[in-house]
Amino acid sequence: MSKQITYYSTNLKAEPVTFKEALLKGIAPDKGLYMPDQIPQFTPDEIDRFSGMPYWEIAYKVIHKFIKGDIHAKDLKALCKDAYDFDVPLENAYDRKYVMRLDQGPTASFKDFAARMMGRLMNYYLTRDKRNLLILTATSGDTGSAIASAYYGLKNVKAVVLFPEKEVTSRQRKQMTTLGKNIQILSLDGKFDDCQALVKQAFADKDLDHLNLSSANSINIGRLIPQTVYYFYSYSRLKNSIGEKAVFSVPSGNFGDMMGGVIAMKMGLPVKKFVIATNSNDEFPKYLETGKYDIIVPSKNCISSAMNVGHPSNMSRLVALYGGVMTEKGEVKKKPDMKLMKKEIWSASVDDKNTKSMIKDAWKKHELLLEPHGSVGWSGLMEYIKAHGDDKEQLYISLETAHPAKFPEQIIKLLGFDPELPKSLEGIEKRKEKYDTIGLEYKHFKKYLLKNYK
Ligand SMILES: *Cc1c(COP(=O)(O)O)cnc(C)c1O
Repeated sequence: MSKQITYYSTNLKAEPVTFKEALLKGIAPDKGLYMPDQIPQFTPDEIDRFSGMPYWEIAYKVIHKFIKGDIHAKDLKALCKDAYDFDVPLENAYDRKYVMRLDQGPTASFKDFAARMMGRLMNYYLTRDKRNLLILTATSGDTGSAIASAYYGLKNVKAVVLFPEKEVTSRQRKQMTTLGKNIQILSLDGKFDDCQALVKQAFADKDLDHLNLSSANSINIGRLIPQTVYYFYSYSRLKNSIGEKAVFSVPSGNFGDMMGGVIAMKMGLPVKKFVIATNSNDEFPKYLETGKYDIIVPSKNCISSAMNVGHPSNMSRLVALYGGVMTEKGEVKKKPDMKLMKKEIWSASVDDKNTKSMIKDAWKKHELLLEPHGSVGWSGLMEYIKAHGDDKEQLYISLETAHPAKFPEQIIKLLGFDPELPKSLEGIEKRKEKYDTIGLEYKHFKKYLLKNYK
C-alpha cells in the first residue's frame, strides 16, 4: 500500500496538509494552490472494469484514491451516489468523434460536477466536527448558480452569493434567486470586480472571524479531483480495446477542467493527446509554442465568456505537474519539462469569428448543437485533426461544458431557433425570486453579514 497522500502548496512555502484541511482552507497560507504529493495509479485492468460501472461508482473509485485516509468508504459511496444522479450523454458526431455533454446537471453547466462533490465533502467534515461555515462567493454568472445549487439544503454550510445586477442574464439570476433556504443572494449595482473586492475584504476582516467564513472558488482541490472522473467515464463507454489511446479536446479558461484530464492521464488513463482550446485569450498556446509565459491584462472579451481569462489560476498546478514552479502571479521560478508537456498537450486559440462559424458548421454537417464554449472545444479538435491528419479509427472526445439553451441569443442568431431548455431549467421562469440589494461600499456588506449571520 502506498502511504497516504498529503497536499502541498505550489508556492512551496506552506506546510503540507491532509485532504480535509486543503478542502476547508481552499487556498494555502502562502497563496499557492494545493496539489497531491503523489498521483495515485490505476492498472489497465482496473480501468477496464469501469465499463460495467455507473458514473457514481467510477467517481467513488477515482476520488477514493485521493482521499481514502480522510473518509470512510461507505460514506464516500453515499456522497457520490447522491451527487451524480444525472446523465452524461456521449453524442456521436461522425466516425469515432464524440461530444461529451457535461450539461445535464442542475444548472446545466459542467461546474455542477465539481461543486456538488465539493459541497457534500465540506458538509460531511463539518457535520462530523460539529462545525458550521459561511461560504462567500462572488460571481459573474455561472459559478454562483452552480455553487448555490450545490450547497442548497446542506445542513452545516450557508452560502452568500454576490452578483453584479447588470452583468448577469435573467436566466442566470433565476438559477440563484429561486432557491432560498441556506442560500442568500445579494445583488450589487456594480461590476464583478466590485463583488469580488467585497468578498476579499470580508475574508480579511477580523470583526467577522466568528462567522467562520470560507470560499468555494475554482482553485479548491475539492473541485479539481471530481473533474478527473468524466474522462474515465467517457473512455470506459467508448473504447474498443484495453489500452487504446483517446484524444480529448477541452475548452479552457481557468484550466480546472483540463487539469482534471491531465491528472486522469497521469493516473493511467490512456491518452494520446490533450487538445487545450482557448478563445482569444491565447497566453497558453503561445507559452506551449515559445516557452515564454505572458499573462493577458485585461483579459479579452469573447462570446465564450466563462473562458475570458488572461492568466488561468490553475497554470501553477499544470507547471507543478511537469516539475516546474510558477507563482500565483505567473512568474516561472523553475522551468517545467516543456518537452514532455508538448508531447502530451497540444493547444489552439479560437477567435469569436471561428467560434460562431463552427456553431453553424457543426449543426449543418452533423446536427451537432454546440454553444460558444463547446464550439471552441470542437474547433480546437478540428484544428488538431487538420494539423495531424484525420484517422477514422481514432477515438476523439470533445467536451461540451454548458447547455446551448443557456445561450439562446447566439443560437437564435446563428441557427435561427431557440434551443429547448433542459429538464433542470424547465419552469425556472415562473419560480418566485428572492434576493437583497446592497450598496457598493464595504460597510453595507459588513452590516448585512453581521445582522443576518450572528
Ligand atoms: C467555467 C467554464 C469553462 C472553463 O472551465 P475552466 O475549468 O475554468 O477551464 C468552460 N465552459 C463553461 C461553460 C464554463 O462555465
